[in-house]
Amino acid sequence: MADNNFDVVVIGGGPGGYVAAIRAAQLGLQVAVVEMRAGLGGTCLNVGCIPSKALLQSSHHYHMAQHSLGDHGVTVGKVGLDLKAMMARKDGIVSDTVKGVDFLMKKNKIKRFVGRGVITGANEVTVEGDKKEVLTAEDIIIATGSDVAPLPGVDIDEKQIVSSTGALTLSKVPKKMIVVGAGVIGLEMGSVWGRLGADVTVVEFLDCIMPGMDGGFYMTKNGGVMAFMGGLIGHVIFALAAFYTAGLF
Ligand SMILES: Cc1cc2nc3c(=O)[nH]c(=O)nc-3n(C[C@H](O)[C@H](O)[C@H](O)COP(=O)(O)OP(=O)(O)OC[C@H]3O[C@@H](n4cnc5c(N)ncnc54)[C@H](O)[C@@H]3O)c2cc1C
Repeated sequence: MADNNFDVVVIGGGPGGYVAAIRAAQLGLQVAVVEMRAGLGGTCLNVGCIPSKALLQSSHHYHMAQHSLGDHGVTVGKVGLDLKAMMARKDGIVSDTVKGVDFLMKKNKIKRFVGRGVITGANEVTVEGDKKEVLTAEDIIIATGSDVAPLPGVDIDEKQIVSSTGALTLSKVPKKMIVVGAGVIGLEMGSVWGRLGADVTVVEFLDCIMPGMDGGFYMTKNGGVMAFMGGLIGHVIFALAAFYTAGLF
């Protein structure tokens, strides 16, 4: 068990966890990271910042080729969409970035454990992976991140009703899409699928999109994305949009 004694055990290998682990290792400590995903990098690298930015860039090119390259004097032939290739490019970028974090772990001599980390004592973390391993640590850093907030009564099946994670892997462009939440992630995903041809409606509880941003930041149309704001109005329009999508009128 001697191998499993560390100065610091970090639970969670996302940007919070792996950066803390690297810093601790740079300060001369013996560090382990416990991550239940196969790859490091957390939400950001696997199902967040990186894949969403890859799709934003690809969809931007597609939209520009369709609608605005001509304004620049650039003429192109018939523009087509190879969604499979677009997704493959995104997956390749994710995989390269995740490998980059693996490299940083090795470079900084940080030990990696695959599995769910459970704190089983004041200085003890049990890794529930293929096998159970018990690690001891002077200090434990909890960097387990966050998850998609569910809506009461709504079953996220990642097929018809998807979280942001499912929205990164759709196999075809939906005709219509309702995005609940006009924060950064909702608008990014709405923009991607709107640019690729979906008729996107964004519903936001607050009276502005991108809550928390500068009040001057208002946008009601972007690449075919419509946003409806406001508590009551938002709810009414959400209901109407849902009925419309369900073909009830
Ligand atoms: C679609 C999308 C786009 C985004 N775009 C951006 C952006 O452009 N810029 C930006 O700054 N942020 C962006 N974010 C937010 C960003 O992803 C998060 O802020 C960031 O990932 C948080 O890092 P973290 O390390 O705290 O948590 P996470 O990245 O969530 O990492 C936590 C890790 O802990 C692991 N874990 C949880 N519990 C356990 C356990 N018990 N044992 C072992 N492992 C465990 C999880 O599997 C996960 O890998 C985006 C998010 C999404 C969903």
